[in-house]
Amino acid sequence: MTPTSCGPLLDAMIEAVCLVDPKTLRISAANQVFASLVGLAPADFLNKPVVEMTSSPEDLFFWEDVAAGLADNILSESLLRCADGIAIPVERKVSRVWFNPQEPVYLVGLRDLRQQRQVEEQLETRMAELRATLESTGDGVLVVDVAGVVRHYNRRFVELWNIPTDLLETRDDTVLFAHMAACVQDEAAYQDRLTAIAGDPKMECTDVLLLRSGRMLERVTLPQISRSSVLGRVFSFRDLTERLDAQKRIEALAYTDVLTGLPNRLLLGQRVAVALRAAQRNGSTFAVLFVDLDRFKNINDSLGHAFGDRVLIEAAARIQQTLREVDTLCRVGGDEFIAFLQEADAFGAEIVARRILEKLGQAFVLDTVNFSLGCSIGVAMYPEDGRTLDTLIQCADTAMFRVKERGRGNFRFYQPQMNVDLLSRVKMDHAMRQAMEQGLFRLHYQPQISLCDGRLLGVEALIRWRDAELGNVSPATFIPLAEESGFIITIGNWVLVEAVRQAVVWQAAGRPVVVSINVSALQFQQGDFVERVASAIADAGLDPSLLELELTESILIKDINETLSRLHALAALGVSLAIDDFGTGYSSLAYLKKFPISKLKIDRAFVTGLPADEGDRAIVGATIAMAQALKLSVVAEGVETGAQRDFLRELHCEAFQGFLCSPGLAAEDFEKLYATLPKG
Ligand code: C2E
Ligand code: MG
Ligand code: MG
Repeated sequence: MTPTSCGPLLDAMIEAVCLVDPKTLRISAANQVFASLVGLAPADFLNKPVVEMTSSPEDLFFWEDVAAGLADNILSESLLRCADGIAIPVERKVSRVWFNPQEPVYLVGLRDLRQQRQVEEQLETRMAELRATLESTGDGVLVVDVAGVVRHYNRRFVELWNIPTDLLETRDDTVLFAHMAACVQDEAAYQDRLTAIAGDPKMECTDVLLLRSGRMLERVTLPQISRSSVLGRVFSFRDLTERLDAQKRIEALAYTDVLTGLPNRLLLGQRVAVALRAAQRNGSTFAVLFVDLDRFKNINDSLGHAFGDRVLIEAAARIQQTLREVDTLCRVGGDEFIAFLQEADAFGAEIVARRILEKLGQAFVLDTVNFSLGCSIGVAMYPEDGRTLDTLIQCADTAMFRVKERGRGNFRFYQPQMNVDLLSRVKMDHAMRQAMEQGLFRLHYQPQISLCDGRLLGVEALIRWRDAELGNVSPATFIPLAEESGFIITIGNWVLVEAVRQAVVWQAAGRPVVVSINVSALQFQQGDFVERVASAIADAGLDPSLLELELTESILIKDINETLSRLHALAALGVSLAIDDFGTGYSSLAYLKKFPISKLKIDRAFVTGLPADEGDRAIVGATIAMAQALKLSVVAEGVETGAQRDFLRELHCEAFQGFLCSPGLAAEDFEKLYATLPKG
């Protein structure tokens, strides 16, 4: 058989084949498949050197080896140059065959690799995409095959499990799995679960793993299934730590008071709602305590807000100590707290209220500053006082307010009549008007004594009312009411005339005494106030320097310009002006300087704690120093002890007023006292 005569044999083959002459390396025959693979007519490739159909330099060497008889049965890959000059990848097998025994030829079989290459490329792209996907997810991924051998993992997996680099390099699955197990807090449970998963190739499940590092991972595992057979398993791990932390933070912000960390009103509302539902079922009772710090404003104003904040934190902690776990303490306003006592009756509420009073009554020491605070508490009970949180809070607030009115530092249960029910207000107002008609009001006079020589410097006129039915009614009770109803104008006018009358009596008797009267804000704001003062003095013939007006700080901060011109008009009359209850309002140095004021009266609240209370010492000391700088004289109110007086004297306070010398006295009693005082 010659190469040319073996055409039918070649054509019978499925693959592209050609015969190459071993000497000339020219193509001597080829089959149809070969012709269509290279895209040439047989005339165009027959007798052509085979190297012309190759495309790479290596092929030259290859065919040289073939020519030298060194190659037989060689399977390799190559590029075949085709008709249009395009090179196509082929698999090539070259074998020596003997069609006649003298002369071998080379049989070259070629397989088109284009499709396979395309599939490979697609596969590679797919793999690259997969790898990118695996790496781009925020979750850690671990893929194992059916036998549990690790196939893939991503970088996040390495991070989450903190896998050491050497472990990654050795690629020892057993060590890797042991490392993971050692990271978990409950190793036994972790292993049990893995065994269960391994035992059920189709299992899908989600677990939460707590790591020893404190991290919390969510593990989701799914079988990897292809054509309904399980190929392996994918584990994905998600870090829940930060999400949980953030969630906790958000919850904390929404439900707590930032300063004290206590629950806020929202959380209180939720807890009370739960308690209300339970109470409706089982008939239990509970208490709401409204706690308001006494004198906190002074601390805040005199020692600064940052300091005030720390006081609030400390106060909150103290109140919290008096409560049980089931109770809720919440801060509702600057210095206002609500304690919600679960399953408490009036008896229990009273015990807690007393404990809070006791705790907050203990001295505070912050930054070596020593001061006392105290608080006022109102108590409301469910279900007697209200059936919603809002009404209960309102009632407790009203009761607390009552405590404040009556001198603070105490607690009270809400009583229905407490809402100063219109009825009693109306009654009191009516009684006041009648008392005025019947001339039942009196003035008492409380001496103001010089701290340097004990002389009398003046007296404060204090109104007194003894009602047939109500008994002695304190001005602290009826003055606020009269201010509300406007009746204070009538009272104020009467006080002015009466005080001036008395001052004229003493002036005429040759014992002139400066008489101070208290002026209410509403009275001061009356358009004819200055005229009234002027005519009272003129009509009675009083030396104007014998009259002093005590104004409160609240008068001064309203409508500054109007106030200023009125004060100047009063000063022009020759009367003197004092600020009463100094320290309890909003005085600022800036306006004190502007006003024609000659005296400050330090409120009793700051004197009570002297000399022991450091906060009071600081406030009183600063007030006196400030007054001296502004050339104002200072009278300390409510001095009851020798120690208070001595301390004030050391601070160069001019005068004091208080029970230590005398309470307010009727004019004739005052005259007797006056006779005993040193004369200057
Ligand atoms: P205020 O003007 O600050 O008067 C001082 C109050 O402290 C008086 O109470 C006085 O009796 C009391 N006090 C004086 N020394 C001491 C002491 O050593 N210890 C204690 N615990 N208290 C002392 P009062 O008379 O009950 O008056 C209360 C408030 O009623 C007065 O405070 C004043 O704001 C108002 N008020 C009194 N009389 C009048 C008035 O005629 N007109 C107006 N508008 N208000 C008046
Ligand atoms: Mg006064
Ligand atoms: Mg006062």
